[in-house]
Amino acid sequence: MSTRRTFSLKPPDTAVATMPIVCIECRRPWLTDGERWRLKVTEDSPPETVPYCPNCARREFGAA
Ligand SMILES: [Zn+2]
Repeated sequence: MSTRRTFSLKPPDTAVATMPIVCIECRRPWLTDGERWRLKVTEDSPPETVPYCPNCARREFGAA
């Protein structure tokens, strides 16, 4: 007779380690490491950090 062992201990494989960065304007996720995204800190209280993809950053802040 074989013993079927079941383990209830299982490492979480769907753990969210890092927040996905999504452009605040076009909602495009940051998938390409080489892209230079901008992080803008709002004047809100508490201040919020909002990411802009290169395209939207250029449109919002101009070429820099
Ligand atoms: Zn964008």
